[in-house]
Amino acid sequence: MRESGISEEELFSFLSLKKGEDSRYHHVLSSMCTLPHPVAVRAHQMFIEANLGDPGLFRGAASVENLLVERVGSLLHHPGAGGYATSGGTESNLQALRIFRKMKGSRRPNVVVPESAHFSFEKACDILCIEMRTVPCDQTFRMDPDALQERLDADTCCIVGIAGTTEYGVVDPIETIAGIAHDHGIPLHVDAAFGGFVIPFLKRPIPFDFSLPGVASVAVDPHKMGMSTIPCGCLLVREPSWFNLLNVDTPYLTVKQECTLAGTRSGGAVVGAFAVLEFLGREGMRAVVEGCMKNTARLIDGMETFGYRRAVTPDLNVATFEGGAVPPGWQVSWTRRGHMRMVMMPHVHRSVIEEYLKETGEIHA
Ligand code: PLP
Repeated sequence: MRESGISEEELFSFLSLKKGEDSRYHHVLSSMCTLPHPVAVRAHQMFIEANLGDPGLFRGAASVENLLVERVGSLLHHPGAGGYATSGGTESNLQALRIFRKMKGSRRPNVVVPESAHFSFEKACDILCIEMRTVPCDQTFRMDPDALQERLDADTCCIVGIAGTTEYGVVDPIETIAGIAHDHGIPLHVDAAFGGFVIPFLKRPIPFDFSLPGVASVAVDPHKMGMSTIPCGCLLVREPSWFNLLNVDTPYLTVKQECTLAGTRSGGAVVGAFAVLEFLGREGMRAVVEGCMKNTARLIDGMETFGYRRAVTPDLNVATFEGGAVPPGWQVSWTRRGHMRMVMMPHVHRSVIEEYLKETGEIHA
């Protein structure tokens, strides 16, 4: 660290240079994050110093967190769900497994996840010393429920289903999986970190939430399709009292117990997430999702005219292809199976897709 500070002008000209090295979202087709909505930025700035880890000091921000949980709960057909704002899908998945591991009390717990699960489950199982059993997917990259049944035993503390896979944008057969979970008395955690703000707004929503009796918890990320600022995830559980299993004493804070993983937590991002939902309402969210889905269909159509076949028809706004060309300056990604992957987030406007297709056509010619 420097002995004497530099001038503000010098500092910010250095930071501008660094900012120039960041990708602008314009040509980023690989990310599940997006440019935050302007009302999220404004609300975040307004609550920039709010620390939700000490809610007695920031009563306003803390009450907005409760409102956010209530709004997301009602979207997921359970307004009375317990919940809190996490730092994102990784924390939500970890905390859900922590709850169900404690509930089970087994000495050698296991959790059963589809092979398509996000790598956050690997981290969570490592931290929590839980055996992670993977279930193969079918040709459409969705979890095979028969193979799931074979992996369950008396030490299974949780089944995980994915409502919107990171790589292929497909939804596992959650209704069937929830039935299996319910019959076996095993909690089902639904990772809807990506799909949670897409599925409810589709023309034909797919069942994935608390309306299904076997679903015990759901992870949904405002900082992905909820267009909030980073970091903001949400973990919702069917029974609010389940969070008591995670409580630790916090003697020197304004509250005496805490169930969250992080201590200090961003109030700004949480208020930002709430702001977007209030500002857009269901109508506005439906319009955003409809645009993303139309763009996904247009991209698939365009790529197929060049002979790059889709790897699967997605449920959500993720398009994957058997091969493809990447024009210079564009960011795309590749799945573990080697498919080219692009996510049609709200910043990927129709004109961006046309530009991408035109440049792809030029390379292809
Ligand atoms: N779950 C799913 C389905 C995801 O797609 C992701 C990230 O893309 C995560 C969990 C992890 O979320 P985060 O990076 O916010 O921790």
